[in-house]
Amino acid sequence: MRNAKIIATLGPGTSSEEMINALFQAGADVFRLNFSHGQHADHKLRYDIIRSMEEKYHRSVGILLDLQGPKLRVGRFQGGKVQLEAGKRFRLDLSDGLGNEDRVSLHHPEIFEALEEGTDLLLDDGNIRLRVVEFGRDFAETEILTGGALSDHKGVNVPTAVLPLSSLTAKDLEDLRYGLDLGVDWVALSFVQRPEDIAEARKLIAGRAGVMAKLEKPGAMDHLDEIVNLSDAIMVARGDLGVEMPLEAVPGIQKQITRACRRAGKPVVVATQMLESMITAPVPTRAEVSDVSIAVFEGADAIMLSAESAAGQYPVEAVSMMNAIAVQVEKDPTYPGIINAQRSEPEATGADAISLAARQIAETLRLSAIVTYTASGTTGLRAARERPRVPIIALSPVVETARRLSLVWGLHCVVTPDASDLDDMVDRACRIAFAEGFGRAGDRIIVTAGVPLRTPGATNLLRIAYIGSDGTNGI
Ligand code: PGA
Ligand code: MN
Repeated sequence: MRNAKIIATLGPGTSSEEMINALFQAGADVFRLNFSHGQHADHKLRYDIIRSMEEKYHRSVGILLDLQGPKLRVGRFQGGKVQLEAGKRFRLDLSDGLGNEDRVSLHHPEIFEALEEGTDLLLDDGNIRLRVVEFGRDFAETEILTGGALSDHKGVNVPTAVLPLSSLTAKDLEDLRYGLDLGVDWVALSFVQRPEDIAEARKLIAGRAGVMAKLEKPGAMDHLDEIVNLSDAIMVARGDLGVEMPLEAVPGIQKQITRACRRAGKPVVVATQMLESMITAPVPTRAEVSDVSIAVFEGADAIMLSAESAAGQYPVEAVSMMNAIAVQVEKDPTYPGIINAQRSEPEATGADAISLAARQIAETLRLSAIVTYTASGTTGLRAARERPRVPIIALSPVVETARRLSLVWGLHCVVTPDASDLDDMVDRACRIAFAEGFGRAGDRIIVTAGVPLRTPGATNLLRIAYIGSDGTNGI
């Protein structure tokens, strides 16, 4: 009965059947397998547990494979780490030796090619800042602007450059093949820079999973609408975004992205450090609670836990907390007004016209649910784009569609075979609304569908129906 969905990242702390079940019971709708960490076998174990849980509870659960992408890293140091001092010089190069106070290897020739004098390199999540003073095809000589400890394999960000890199590395291609064979529902692409990155991934994925673009490079913001249009979903990846942009720019960008996605009817996920302090504490800070609530007030489709659920000490408490915040925000008297303020006009399609009408009728007549038949998921997405005040039940004969839609705002997904005719369709909608607790005998629901069924883009039917005393259609 909650609109905003919860994504929980699984990791070393949450790989047992008991734990994954507990996270699900606490409110996780989608599980994220983070391929930046762990072996294929670890992810398969988690995958199998989720799928058997799905059967046990008869509910579709989404699984999101997050690819590492071209995360750039320095090499290793003598002794594992060094102390960099502001004002001194530091060199990055292609050679192999272990690093020291003067230099370290950086095995990414593309970076050196994209440099300009004055380019800043950010190391270790932005803790260290280096300014390029001289460079060649195989090195960069820098001045240390902000020093600090630097250890083996720390990350490197080059915020101002669009690097000539595909967002899919050789490792990603292998991980992708593995994940698609497992049957993941969503694939997240890290460090998307240009629309072409998504086009390339789409070709490889070929419809077997939804494509989610992680926005974490400033350059991607220059093509926001195009990237949103080419993707099936978007993640506001505030971790790397906050390294690559001034931190104070991130909240505004989060709003811009959320609004662009709501306009386009594409699911949007707000991610990273939502309840960060819960990695080590059972209760979050007031500021974190407020941050989660802002995403829910904006109408984000999903809010995500990373280390909190993957490796923290209080993973179940973190999911429960997110659930409690979302439920409370959605009950707040200010919530409908704030959600409505960002509603977009329908596009000139049957699906949008019917979705708008369904919302207005459901809200005017205080119906108990909107039931929408959706084979591909498109009609479900368009119904959710309206952000109605009543629950939406998405019925699909395709289990993959139901799993994928579990990420989407307000959609309660149920797998059911195609209806045989119109009467069967309405009857089935009543019975499922009743059985799933969305309507009682005597309540009315609204049913939308495209007839003939399974014709993509043919949403053309809207019907008000009574739930009868036995839960079937009372006409
Ligand atoms: P990551 O992505 O956790 O894979 O880095 C999320 C982010 O950068 O916010
Ligand atoms: Mn990231």
